[in-house]
Amino acid sequence: MGINKKQQSAYNKVFSVKMNLKKRPDCKICGKPNAYAHHPNYQEPLKIIWLCKDCHRKLHLGEFVLDNIEKYLIDLSKIEKTERNKRIYTLYKRGAYTLRGLAKVFRISHPRILAIIKNMEKKKK
Ligand SMILES: [Zn+2]
Ligand SMILES: [Zn+2]
Repeated sequence: MGINKKQQSAYNKVFSVKMNLKKRPDCKICGKPNAYAHHPNYQEPLKIIWLCKDCHRKLHLGEFVLDNIEKYLIDLSKIEKTERNKRIYTLYKRGAYTLRGLAKVFRISHPRILAIIKNMEKKKK
């Protein structure tokens, strides 16, 4: 059973967010640490459910059904944004980039970068 391009790119996206998390997520069903991402729908690669190996296998084998999927679903795009903003702020603080440089690297507008930095500054206090 191979995986297609869409699945691979979904896994890659999740992996990059996961690597940035301070703590690896726990399984949503049994609470075991260091869960894997289960995609109910590969069209939405950042909407996932964290499941341990066992629960994931059982779910795919149909040993149990998640009836209220929304309850378990996590939208990683929010985490992705938070992580991105943190990175922007760190780079800015280090003086690694100018605001214009950051805007270019992260492909966000200059005013947006400014707003992100101001926001992070407020949070630090
Ligand atoms: Zn589990
Ligand atoms: Zn799965």
